[in-house]
Amino acid sequence: MSITIDKELNPWEAQAARFDFAAQKLKLDDGLWKILRYPTREIIVHLPVAMDDGRLEVFTGFRVQHSIARGPGKGGVRYAPDVNLDEVRALASWMTWKCAVVNIPFGGAKGGVICDPKKLSQTELEKITRRYTAELIEFIGPEKDVPAPDMGTNEQTMAWMMDTFSMHMRQTVTAVVTGKPLNIGGSRGRREATGRGVLIVCDEALKRLGMQREGTRVIVQGFGNVGSNAAQLMHEAGYKVIGIAEYDGGLFNKNGIDINKLVEYKQRNGTVVGFPGAEAADPKELLTTECEILAPCATENVITSKNADKIKAKIIAEGANGPTTSVADEILQDKKVFIIPDILANAGGVTASYFEWVQDRQGYFWKESVVNEQLENILVDSFDAVVQYAETHNVNNRIAAYMLAIDRVAFTIKQRGVYA
Ligand code: NAD
Repeated sequence: MSITIDKELNPWEAQAARFDFAAQKLKLDDGLWKILRYPTREIIVHLPVAMDDGRLEVFTGFRVQHSIARGPGKGGVRYAPDVNLDEVRALASWMTWKCAVVNIPFGGAKGGVICDPKKLSQTELEKITRRYTAELIEFIGPEKDVPAPDMGTNEQTMAWMMDTFSMHMRQTVTAVVTGKPLNIGGSRGRREATGRGVLIVCDEALKRLGMQREGTRVIVQGFGNVGSNAAQLMHEAGYKVIGIAEYDGGLFNKNGIDINKLVEYKQRNGTVVGFPGAEAADPKELLTTECEILAPCATENVITSKNADKIKAKIIAEGANGPTTSVADEILQDKKVFIIPDILANAGGVTASYFEWVQDRQGYFWKESVVNEQLENILVDSFDAVVQYAETHNVNNRIAAYMLAIDRVAFTIKQRGVYA
């Protein structure tokens, strides 16, 4: 496929390429194709914030609601210096497909604010978050659109969003966001859920391919929420995690890294670099190092036309959203790599978010074992549905996941009818 590198690396183009291909395979009705190809609503807000030094600064934020056909919009809020509308659009669309793949009653949405959280004080972050929430007040809510954390945001950010929304509503509305701290309506197991989902789908892939956990070598990129939990749970389950690739450096140990110790090390030092239980390694080279499972759990566009042919992993489990470009997909398909696509592999997070929303609305909170069991049931069923769909329709796992999802959303729209 000839495509410019700029286009290859634009997440919106990457999403649209897969959507178009899957929609064509499905012979999707032209009108439905138009409805689903573009987001329903895109909001841009400019947020004045009084900085700690007394200056007024104005930050730009986005919220994109791709589809609310199957239920309220659902999706994280990203704080990053380079976040942009095309990226948020792509992430919002992926949320629609992800929620449909795991068959939970949400649509897809995503948000972002252009800022560098590493360079802002807690007070400044709180002010940005409150003003962002206030600007979105009529567009979010438990029945409208339910934000959650993503890169650069966390439980504290969600607590501020929940509080700001509640102040405007003059009542406490916990179900307006998920990923909250436990004592203000958070769910047990939510923090680890995306990483746990990566473990569950890898277990299912091993069963399909006739492999065992023991001795299966894993390399994880990103040691944040998703990557550290995935690595830790896989380590505890008997996988051999031999490599960790982070922004500022990588680690390699052919005998396996003690991930519990690495988690403690990162908590103390704020980085994985210098960990005594492994050798230093080039984080980019780790992606193409020999292993059975590669789990990109950091960010978009890390597997591209530039490195896909050098990948040696048998399985790629996409903990991150959009880590593989559409051009890289074709190369990996020729190499017969078993890809567990992002909209399935990292759906554990939104599934546990759904449980959190349900618990908030019921005012009844589940034990962690119940959360984990329900999560496993949903992800195992979804994995089976995607892989079976791929076999029946003779497409790869990613296209199968898109087709399954698009079909479910299109069916809902047809049943509801279009208010046109
Ligand atoms: P996070 O900010 O907690 O962690 C990301 C980590 O990746 C950080 O440690 C960062 O230093 C590292 N990183 C960033 N770019 C990198 C690069 N180029 N090379 C190596 N390391 C890099 O974020 P997170 O919540 O773990 O999210 C990671 C990815 O997973 C994102 O794509 C996000 O959209 C996706 N995701 C997250 C959740 C969730 O529940 N948090 C759910 C579904 C999908």
